[in-house]
Amino acid sequence: MEFHVLTLFPDLIDRVTGESIIGRAREAGLITVEAHNIRDFSKDKHRRVDDTPYGGGMGMLMAAPPIYDCYSAVKAKLEGSVRVIYMSPQGKVFSQKKAEELKGYDNLILLCGHYEGIDRRVIDEIVDEEISIGDYILTGGELPACIVIDAIARLCDGVLADPSCYENESIASGALEYPQYTRPVEYHGVRVPDVLLSGNHAEIEKWRRKEALKLTMKNRPDLL
Ligand code: SAH
Repeated sequence: MEFHVLTLFPDLIDRVTGESIIGRAREAGLITVEAHNIRDFSKDKHRRVDDTPYGGGMGMLMAAPPIYDCYSAVKAKLEGSVRVIYMSPQGKVFSQKKAEELKGYDNLILLCGHYEGIDRRVIDEIVDEEISIGDYILTGGELPACIVIDAIARLCDGVLADPSCYENESIASGALEYPQYTRPVEYHGVRVPDVLLSGNHAEIEKWRRKEALKLTMKNRPDLL
């Protein structure tokens, strides 16, 4: 699967997706993440990409032409299905379900805004869908794009060692995950629950289901 990010800060995308599991998946060629610098498509002699909004108001707006030209250059090289997403606080809030749905595309183009946002005309012309990562305002779409990439990439074949890694997980399973423990068996006076040391798989399964339910009732009753 290919992720193409249209951004003014390509290094940010490269660094965030260059580490850990996603970084290794990129190296192994399981996914492709390419950041494309919108500024390279500015025709202004000072490489400007923003301007003041018509009608007045605070701040600067990213202009349509360099974004459209960047998008066209990227899109022309893609093969297979393409979905164009604008990272935006005005979109529907991202979810595990959305990650699973977007995994079905061969290519995602993720457009990142900055400053006060983007001229509406280019959004209306090229974007299929706007996605928000939550009800708060950030300085740019780069971190949201990395979050979307991370959530989708870990569902791609070979990225996690074993698909069962995400089958029982919080949210996907319809509840939060049960509490987990590793060595040492006693830490700061607290012992690992005996049932987990019992080797009785049926009892362990029962305990985990009960604990998962308890935790979900307490923290996220809306999931049940
Ligand atoms: N003035 C705009 C906010 C601009 S924030 C408004 O009121 O709607 C600047 C950029 O950051 C946006 O263009 C978007 O790409 C990104 N951004 C900010 N918050 C975001 C969020 N919650 N989810 C996704 N992208 C976000």
